[in-house]
Amino acid sequence: MRGHVLLRFWARVAIFLVGLAVIVPACAGDVAKVVLLTGADPVQPAALVQIQAVRETLEASPSKDVEVYLEALDGFRFDGQDLSNEYLALLEKKYRGQHIDLVIVIANPAADFALKFHSLIWSTTPVLLSSVPEDWLRSRTLPDGFSVIPYRIDAGETLSLAALLQPDANRLIVVGGIADVDRRFTSLVIEAARHDRARWQSSEAWEGLPIDELKRRLSALDTKTAVVYTTMYRDRDGHRYFPYEVVPSITKASAAPVYGWYAVYLQYGLTAGAVYDLAENGRRTGRAALSVLEGRSTGAIGLPALPARCVVNASEAERFGLDTARLAEDCSLVAQPPSIYREYRSTVLLSAGVLLAQSLTIAALLMQRRRRRRAEAESSARSAELARAARISTVGELSASIAHEVGQPLGAILSNADAADLLVRASTVDVDELQAILADVRRDALRANDVVKRLRALLQKQSAGSRPLSLNAVVDSALVLIRPEARRRRIRVEMTLDPKGTMVLGDEVQLQQIVLNLAVNAMDAMNLIEPEQRILSIAIGAVDERAELSVADRGAGIDADDVRRLFEPFYTSKPNGMGLGLAIVRSIVDAHGGDIEAASRQGGGALFTVWLPRFADASCESGIATSLPNAGPGDASRAYAMVRPATHRADQGHAI
Ligand code: ADP
Repeated sequence: MRGHVLLRFWARVAIFLVGLAVIVPACAGDVAKVVLLTGADPVQPAALVQIQAVRETLEASPSKDVEVYLEALDGFRFDGQDLSNEYLALLEKKYRGQHIDLVIVIANPAADFALKFHSLIWSTTPVLLSSVPEDWLRSRTLPDGFSVIPYRIDAGETLSLAALLQPDANRLIVVGGIADVDRRFTSLVIEAARHDRARWQSSEAWEGLPIDELKRRLSALDTKTAVVYTTMYRDRDGHRYFPYEVVPSITKASAAPVYGWYAVYLQYGLTAGAVYDLAENGRRTGRAALSVLEGRSTGAIGLPALPARCVVNASEAERFGLDTARLAEDCSLVAQPPSIYREYRSTVLLSAGVLLAQSLTIAALLMQRRRRRRAEAESSARSAELARAARISTVGELSASIAHEVGQPLGAILSNADAADLLVRASTVDVDELQAILADVRRDALRANDVVKRLRALLQKQSAGSRPLSLNAVVDSALVLIRPEARRRRIRVEMTLDPKGTMVLGDEVQLQQIVLNLAVNAMDAMNLIEPEQRILSIAIGAVDERAELSVADRGAGIDADDVRRLFEPFYTSKPNGMGLGLAIVRSIVDAHGGDIEAASRQGGGALFTVWLPRFADASCESGIATSLPNAGPGDASRAYAMVRPATHRADQGHAI
């Protein structure tokens, strides 16, 4: 029984070990690690297209999971420096302890490196060489484990194509750089031209010329010359390039067609070439790599070299007047990858037209706006001048009374001066009496000065601009000029100030002009009624958020039909009227964001009401005394003496 159990135990162990032996290698062999070592910069288009094709082919394998590690030596551009020891140290450190299944080497700087150091880091790892020129291969012996994807550039095919397209051409210029690879390619072309001396009677190598000089020389050529551009990794001044970067400058400047064998150059203006499909080269490499990884073969040496394909750039051929009719049937005539302008010519033209039209419209609108602004500025200057002229005219109407108003205190001053003189001449001077006389003189002088000051302010040319103002103070100031005239016309003035001292934001002179115009009109309207009936009522109050000013009279009132026309410029019913007073009032009210209304009062007479936005922040209970210009305590008490409830409009208050 015991032996039976032991047997079963060992049988299970054996099954487990066998299973493990099967599973572990299968897992380990599932992911193949491949190092892809390129001699070029990996983002250079010709290199990138191959690297991508290799990766895609490897990654598409249904039987293998492949991990690819990319290493780039960039040896074409840095061929003057031997950095191989440093690269080696880096790779050794990086891949120490890692099993690499295959090393794929692209281009000869990397092939040289692999040949030299392979035994030090990947001695048992197979190596697959790709994009390595045949002459490089000929001069080297490959160790075991190395295989090659054949790659040959046949410059002769490109020269034959040039000869076909330019039957009269007998001069060949080969343009390239001075890096090792540049020089090798250039000599490849010169060599090929030598094989056809009958055709290419002269062939020159322009090696490493700086771009500007190259352009200058190319632009002086003619179509009896064919140009072949190989590669330019470096010029003789030490500038480094990716070869494709130089192509647009060369093709644009050249007065002769430019040929080459890299398909990628076609989009930069190359005329034609027997070009190699580098993506296909990458795919071939990928397929050969898979067959090595799967143990199917050790290399791809038996493959034929990659064939070249004849391609002609149709627009460049047209530019040089080349005859494409004689091209072989399998030669593709391709349109140069279209520029945005070429592809969307009509859209581009339309958009340009729309843009132009838009720009013109904007320019016209800007000019119009400038003109309008200038016109507005002129118009507002004219309005201001007109308003001032109207003020002068109004003051002119009041001048007799104003002169009287000033003359009266001046007369009193004169009398008091005479009285003082008499006192001084008398033997005994009564000092108290003299002081009383001087106080009278002072008071009268202040009164006259007050009138003159307000008159000057009203007639000033420059506006002081907007500022917070007490409407009470504004009206009071205007009344200084109106009262004498009212007295002369035997009109009683009743004034109701606002106890809250409502403030408004405005231009003081303009607001005074409102009061003045409305008051003068009111006085005019009462010319024909009995003197004891003549009452001019002015009231200030606040309704909701607005300050309210009303001016009422006991005249003939306003016909309902005339109400709308009153504010029109030049409407007047007076023999000597200008018809501008109310128009100016309305424009001032509008400019202050207010409203104005005219109506007939019940019981006769007219009522004009003006509403202005309140300047809320500055509104204050004690505003009157402090806001009245030049207001002393006496003035303030006089002002308060006239205060009536603010809700009493001029036509409602019992004072009217
Ligand atoms: P003017 O005073 O030069 O006529 P206004 O524009 O000041 O110009 O006034 C236009 C017209 O409005 C006056 O001619 C008059 O007919 C009418 N008007 C103005 N105020 C009153 C008023 N308080 N009572 C009656 N009519 C008035």
